Amino acid sequence: DAASSAHKDGFERIFGIETEYGLSVTGTARATDAGQVAMMMFQPIVQRARSTNTYLENGSRLYLDIGSHPEYATAEARTPGAALLADAAGEHTMRDLALDTQRRLRDTVDLHATIHLFKNNADSAGHSFGCHENYLVRRGVQLKAIETQLLPFLITRQILTGAGRYTDGHWTVTQRAAFVDETVSSATTRSRPMINTRDEPHADPESFRRLHVIIGDSNRSQWATVMKLAMTHLVLCTMEWGARSGSPTGLEHLALADPVDANLAVDADGADAWLVLADGTMMTALAMQRRMLDAVATFADGFHDEIAASFDGDPFMTLDDVLDEWRTGLDALAAHEWTALADRVDWACKRHVMAGIEARGAVDPMRMRQLDLDYHDIANGVLYGSLVRHHRMRALCTNEQIEDAVTTPPPDTRAVLRGAFVRHALGAPVTWACDWTQLKITTPVKDEIMLLDPFDADGGAPFARIIREVDASRAADSAV
Ligand code: ATP
Ligand code: MG
Ligand code: MG
Repeated sequence: DAASSAHKDGFERIFGIETEYGLSVTGTARATDAGQVAMMMFQPIVQRARSTNTYLENGSRLYLDIGSHPEYATAEARTPGAALLADAAGEHTMRDLALDTQRRLRDTVDLHATIHLFKNNADSAGHSFGCHENYLVRRGVQLKAIETQLLPFLITRQILTGAGRYTDGHWTVTQRAAFVDETVSSATTRSRPMINTRDEPHADPESFRRLHVIIGDSNRSQWATVMKLAMTHLVLCTMEWGARSGSPTGLEHLALADPVDANLAVDADGADAWLVLADGTMMTALAMQRRMLDAVATFADGFHDEIAASFDGDPFMTLDDVLDEWRTGLDALAAHEWTALADRVDWACKRHVMAGIEARGAVDPMRMRQLDLDYHDIANGVLYGSLVRHHRMRALCTNEQIEDAVTTPPPDTRAVLRGAFVRHALGAPVTWACDWTQLKITTPVKDEIMLLDPFDADGGAPFARIIREVDASRAADSAV
């Protein structure tokens, strides 16, 4: 039908962010096992869902594998801003679970037990954990183009979206670069690729793939979260149009000779990093970003209304905002005025704070390391909140918006259906399960529906039926 062909040929997209958190406990007399504390965090979830893997009434997925890295995967969002809100709701939920666990620990184990829940990507033992971005991408885009056009973009965008890390006495631009050793791969264990091509589109596989980006950092900055999705969306739109029309877009001829090397160079030198292209020429990371922004802006000029429409309903950004913010960021870096970005770029923010401390006296590497971690600690960290209160870090979302997103799915996607299903099923005498593409009950009756179109927030008759069955079980239960 018309709607689904618009999705196939248009510029609409589905966004999702998975965030793994790092957990540690301090203040206890005896060492406390983080894995056990993570299990404790999930006790309320297990009580409710009989599993450490569950979907919430806002359509998102909350889960814990073995170990101490609880994960929150946002529901499908139509706009970068809606995905930001969903991710912020995840932070809110994780913080509540952590602080509740801390209260229980203080009651039972040690009065001074303190939980740290880090929204970053590396712990002190040298383990790395991820922040994955998911983009619904049209099949016309070839894997080759993902490697030669998207990858150089993802590597260089980090000059604006890197979360920065203080390690071994110096600063890097990213959290992840030191842990990534491959470019594009479908393997999930062992290798650490930048983009995972494992083919689970959670949508019509004829038309779409789900691009699974794992090179990115977790961001505390809301600006960085929304911009990384928005910039990537625009690059993908440009590539999709190029694939569809066969026309050059300006994103060609930027392939890197060695992406892993280039990634490390950006990590170390940021905007000024020299990159070697596949054709042997050299270019700085900043020059690469400029070329890409120019290509995207030229393309967006030609299709302004259609691309602008893909931001309809975004609570924070329009197309023109994104292009302006992108250009402003690159201009500041070009002028070596990175401190002007300290209120929105995570690495610049932390480096600016530490430079202030350094100016006042000798640097204690331990203290630097602790401040770096504190910035990412969503449970008990003080630095980030204080920066926001003093307007030294921009906040886009209001508390009301975030609290609302804890219980309300992103609008206009199938997340609305999943959320409603979970809301009806919780507390009803049914055995239920769901995942990204299906809703299912097994008692007192069996029923199962597929939701293959992530853009469909209606669900039609089958959805109405399964909700009716859930509600009927409740009515039958209260009758006995
Ligand atoms: P892993 O945790 O092992 O990496 P995974 O990435 O396959 O697994 P999840 O952790 O369940 O899976 O997260 C899936 C993410 O993909 C969610 O954020 C979800 O919103 C998003 N998503 C679901 N369907 C689509 C789709 N059709 N296109 C893009 N993103 C999608
Ligand atoms: Mg995941
Ligand atoms: Mg993933």
